Amino acid sequence: MRKQILAGNWKMNKTSDEVQEFFDTFRNRVNQSWNQVEVMFAVPYTLLAYAREAANGYATILAQNVHYEDSGAYTGEVSIAQLKDSGINGAIVGHSERRQYFAETDEAVAKKVAKLLSEKMLAIACVGETQAEREAERTREVITRQVLAIFAAAPAVDHLVIAYEPVWAIGTGLTASLEQAQEVHSHIRGLARQHYGVEAADSLRILYGGSAKASNIGGLVAQQDIDGGLVGGVSLNPNEFADMIDTVTG
Ligand code: PEP
Repeated sequence: MRKQILAGNWKMNKTSDEVQEFFDTFRNRVNQSWNQVEVMFAVPYTLLAYAREAANGYATILAQNVHYEDSGAYTGEVSIAQLKDSGINGAIVGHSERRQYFAETDEAVAKKVAKLLSEKMLAIACVGETQAEREAERTREVITRQVLAIFAAAPAVDHLVIAYEPVWAIGTGLTASLEQAQEVHSHIRGLARQHYGVEAADSLRILYGGSAKASNIGGLVAQQDIDGGLVGGVSLNPNEFADMIDTVTG
């Protein structure tokens, strides 16, 4: 049985005061069953320590990126040891905004996954096709390439989570249909089966991301291969994010 995950991605939003306010509201608002799902928030580096304290056990705090080298002359980057030093045990890697705006390649994403897993830290590795790729019927090819690069870097699925985020659905209000999402999730699980075997593939959690909200998350997680959501916009609002938890734990 795969435990579902609802992970918020705050992107480049919020200050320390707002973090405190967010979690004060969130902790009071979540239902009794909130911990039937794994609740996580990926926050900017400067807020990691604040968020961890303010969440007070109600959520796991993640970074939105990490560097794969241990230390050295990498201005602007943050290492795994530095995340650990802030009490952080995981990161999102390969988000489409990192791939798109910061030229993050499959190879770089793979190195980050390998490094996180070697330290037994959670890696939420993102994959997804652009609108042009979907229109050109290249979705399967793109997802296969991105996923296999990640699997090649991951000796096992422990601590690995895949997030399928169609780029055309992120922050656009467009959501993949249930059929579109399930089709890709099932393809990813099939790749995992070939790579790791049936049992490991059955334990791999695959999240959907792309304009997920309380009104559509129920239908998404009811799909056989969708194990939760990676949520951008809605995760900035504690009440709306708690509504999503209500729906999933309902
Ligand atoms: C995301 O950034 O990972 C995301 C899915 O954003 P949104 O929910 O706003 O589409």
